[in-house]
Amino acid sequence: MTETGLQPEALPADPAPVAPERDLFSKFDALIAEREALLGTGVRDPFGIVMEEVRSPTEAVIKGRETILLGTYNYMGMTFDPDVISAGKQALDQFGSGTNGSRMLNGTFRDHVDAEDALREFYGADHAMVFSTGYQANLGTISTIAAKGEYVILDADSHASIYDGCKMGDAEVVRFRHNSVEDLDKRLGRLPKEPGKLVVLEGVYSMLGDIAPLKEMVAVAKKHGCMVLVDEAHSMGFFGTHGRGVYEDQGLILGEDVDFVIGTFSKSVGTVGGFCVSNHPKFEAMRLACRPYIFTASLPPSVVATAATSIRKLMHADAKRAQLWSNARRLHANLRELGFTLGTQAADSAIIAVMCKDQERAVGIWQSLLDQGLYVNVARPPATPSGTFLLRCSLSAEHSDAQIDRITAMFADAGRATGEID
Ligand code: PMP
Repeated sequence: MTETGLQPEALPADPAPVAPERDLFSKFDALIAEREALLGTGVRDPFGIVMEEVRSPTEAVIKGRETILLGTYNYMGMTFDPDVISAGKQALDQFGSGTNGSRMLNGTFRDHVDAEDALREFYGADHAMVFSTGYQANLGTISTIAAKGEYVILDADSHASIYDGCKMGDAEVVRFRHNSVEDLDKRLGRLPKEPGKLVVLEGVYSMLGDIAPLKEMVAVAKKHGCMVLVDEAHSMGFFGTHGRGVYEDQGLILGEDVDFVIGTFSKSVGTVGGFCVSNHPKFEAMRLACRPYIFTASLPPSVVATAATSIRKLMHADAKRAQLWSNARRLHANLRELGFTLGTQAADSAIIAVMCKDQERAVGIWQSLLDQGLYVNVARPPATPSGTFLLRCSLSAEHSDAQIDRITAMFADAGRATGEID
């Protein structure tokens, strides 16, 4: 009772304890600190390059400077092909700028079907399915065809999209040592016989530019009753008689040795998109079950129209292929002669990796090259195998001999300035 005789008002109860907010971004602190330390040394941000103008498949303007491009995947130089550009413009005029929907509903236009026809012609395949990116092609195909209780067996150096396809699916995942036929055989031998198994390989591994012994690996996979998927992202157009990839170059046949080929439009084809081709009689069922195909918008009509034209031109691009191989061999020999350590003994593909002692050296050479007017990729873990830092050069059929000579001279300067070579 109070003096007034009234009941005191009930005091508000203590507020419920509020848990301090957990900052979900604190996990990035080490990454942020590493980047700040790197930029603090005065180097340019290797992951913040802007192409202010693009003049050709091999030339752009970066920070106001004319720069030779040696770090794109424009292997066959198709991005400025007049027929490709005109196909894109016509589709843009006739069909508009986008599809506003999934392939499964309103998003299949004439040119999506035409791009799939072009792929069937290119690969001599019964079925072709176009995805919105190569990343999604791996994500969708792997996660859909290998299910719970089944197995995906993959090379330890597989591309992120292959790993992510495994994560998205419910199959058991088994890794084998990079390009080791023996390890593949050993690991397959330990698995139970009954469940379905998918062995996932790449024709060219994009960090070092090395190629897979597909013939031997497929023989082992088939011995153990596995289906085989090969990602030929970095070989389309210039490996094998028809440019189908490393599998073709090594005498393997789609439908007999290889069950699925994955590819992308973002490299030799010169636009964006991904695909899977196969001769499996039930392959079309994928269109009804594959989430990264169904639950995303389809590519704009202009993109698939450029892809279809480019793919058909790649079927007859013998002169470009020859030029690309000659460019790769020439630059590989030049860099080797200068004393750089390279990812492969010979020009096995159109990728040449220059191995560096550490991140500081890699970024130092990269910056020196950029200052001279040459762009290459810097690659670092986790993208690279076994903690290596490297500069990745990728050749185009459109690089001229004069450009390769200039590139060599710029590498010589940068290598000497940083102490990487004598
Ligand atoms: N597979 C491999 C081997 C790749 O290197 C890449 C991209 N670099 C992809 C798939 C994904 O292709 P996209 O760029 O079309 O998503």
